[in-house]
Amino acid sequence: MKEIYLDNNATTKVDEAVFEEMRPYFTELYGNPSSMHFFGGQVQKKVDEARNRVASLLGAQPEEIIFTACGTESDNSAIRSALEVFPEKRHIVTSRVEHPAVLTLCRNLSKRGCRITELNVDSAGRLDLGELARALDDDTAIVSLMYANNETGVVFPIEEIGAMVKAKGALFHTDAVQAVGKIPLNMATSTIDMLSLSGHKLHAPKGIGALYLRKGVPFRPFLVGGHQERSRRAGTEATSSIIALGKACEQAALHMEEENTRVLAQRDRLERELLTLIPHARINGGGAERLPNTLSIAFEFVEGEAILLLLSEHGICASSGSACTSGSLEPSHVLRAMGVPFTCAHGSIRFSLSRFTTDAEIDTVIRELPPIIRRLREISPFGREMLVK
Ligand SMILES: *Cc1c(COP(=O)(O)O)cnc(C)c1O
Repeated sequence: MKEIYLDNNATTKVDEAVFEEMRPYFTELYGNPSSMHFFGGQVQKKVDEARNRVASLLGAQPEEIIFTACGTESDNSAIRSALEVFPEKRHIVTSRVEHPAVLTLCRNLSKRGCRITELNVDSAGRLDLGELARALDDDTAIVSLMYANNETGVVFPIEEIGAMVKAKGALFHTDAVQAVGKIPLNMATSTIDMLSLSGHKLHAPKGIGALYLRKGVPFRPFLVGGHQERSRRAGTEATSSIIALGKACEQAALHMEEENTRVLAQRDRLERELLTLIPHARINGGGAERLPNTLSIAFEFVEGEAILLLLSEHGICASSGSACTSGSLEPSHVLRAMGVPFTCAHGSIRFSLSRFTTDAEIDTVIRELPPIIRRLREISPFGREMLVK
């Protein structure tokens, strides 16, 4: 059975062009870019090219890009750096809906003498900037807020937030793992000090990420050792993966328009049809600005896991929230923070599209999902009661 892959916020297919670009750097051009000989030198040139490509997608300068092993490492590096740069400041502001890469670190730091403010969101997943303003003080070392939410696609007003943070003299980091390649970014005119991205969310392989670090922003490395990445991230460069990330960023720039037209139209059609065909359904984050590829939809009185299993029988791959928390029966921390009622949070499904999604795949979901929900509601005691009403 050919998969219908609608779980692109969990990970993406490596673009063939990206794979071709990285392929020679395993068995043929395997030199160490730090070596003095020509063999390492030619790899160094490709690493430089990759850095230029990543910088170009972000509207940044190449020296502002640090390659890391993943989005999680970029997030951890940014926050830990701020605490070292400002040893006298022990306050961190973040939100209740962050990815675990930020949230778990912050909660661990709260047991080690840091004060953490986790900002709330409203029922549409939006921040209250008044609450942010009240949270900021002279003790605030860093504010870390995500650009776009991986579960709902809700986009935060990052530039407005950055301006408030700058006015208070704190550093501003954003986890833009879900935004890069989907939302046009320009660091040249931005208030962002540090930004995290991850290769496998934009059609590069797993295990490569980058941290944008604005020129002049003080930084302390997370990994120390050799002088790679201008002594900001030690460890021999993951050359093939870096080259792949560069190519993926180049491709993302070429396809950004498509993400915001064709992919958006597919997402909107899926959303519209499901709301029409299935009663008692609602969009999580529907009232907010959202990523063009993400649809988080709640079906009352059904279990998300049951929906996923039945979808899977038709080859349809979706998610019941974040892949990091699935496997537990707790509703997602994001939906809970939004105050989504228990009966809805349990029946929430995330479809996340990509530029490889076809209209025929969307047609299949529109055909297969309504009878699945109907069947599940028929066998659920709550569902039967609801259907009688
Ligand atoms: C996937 C993801 C991460 C983690 O990236 P990895 O490269 O898997 O470590 C962090 N933040 C967000 C918003 C994500 O979606």
